[in-house]
Amino acid sequence: MQSRIVGRYIGCVSAAQSLERRFRRFVECLERKTGRVLRVRFNRNRWTYFSCTRERGRRAVRVNLHVSFLDAPAHVVHAVATLIQRDDPEARHVIRLFAKDQSVFWDKRSDRPPRKVRIRTRGEVYDLQAIFDQLNRRYFDNLCRAQITWGNGSKSARGQRHITFGTYDKTRRLIRVHPALDKRTVPEYFVRYIVFHEMLHAAVPVAASPSGRRLFHSRAFRQREREFEDLERAQKYGRHFVEEVI
Ligand SMILES: [Zn+2]
Repeated sequence: MQSRIVGRYIGCVSAAQSLERRFRRFVECLERKTGRVLRVRFNRNRWTYFSCTRERGRRAVRVNLHVSFLDAPAHVVHAVATLIQRDDPEARHVIRLFAKDQSVFWDKRSDRPPRKVRIRTRGEVYDLQAIFDQLNRRYFDNLCRAQITWGNGSKSARGQRHITFGTYDKTRRLIRVHPALDKRTVPEYFVRYIVFHEMLHAAVPVAASPSGRRLFHSRAFRQREREFEDLERAQKYGRHFVEEVI
């Protein structure tokens, strides 16, 4: 069996070597349990703790795992092996609990209840909560915790061809989407993209540039954004929207 281990680690050499050994042992154990060839990538991202892709026509399964799994108890590793083989709600639940315990994703402060804001998720055309839930299942394993609402549609200064499609308010953990998007003429993939982008702001930690500037759209953010299936046409539509509609 073949497996490729990709670890992005900066540290002293011996530490890296022992980590590498632990990765290898862990992957071998998973391969034994699943009977599959695995290509495992370990990460320290706060947003991906487990994902796996079975490529059509290929035997190997690509798995993305948070490093905290290296120290996971046996029943959690077993749940990972199960999910590599098939979708299983029970196993998903085990992993979700483990991730919560590890607090690898959300800092404690995010558990504070947000201040009262009027939440309106059902628009005339699009139901933001439904879109959010669907994206959460598909891209965030249901771990993105944020509220979502249609915004009030604040207008930009007259003569300015500019619109903010969506915003993310970190203190309230609240996504606002511009009500100009609640139209039949606006394709659903574009609304989905805006919601997805703001969900990423909730999920991906803000990075800092060497000079200390905060990078909201860090490399990690852009990389994660590329996972969105309709990225290209959504971004194209966004430019069109600004040019034609406003
Ligand atoms: Zn952004």
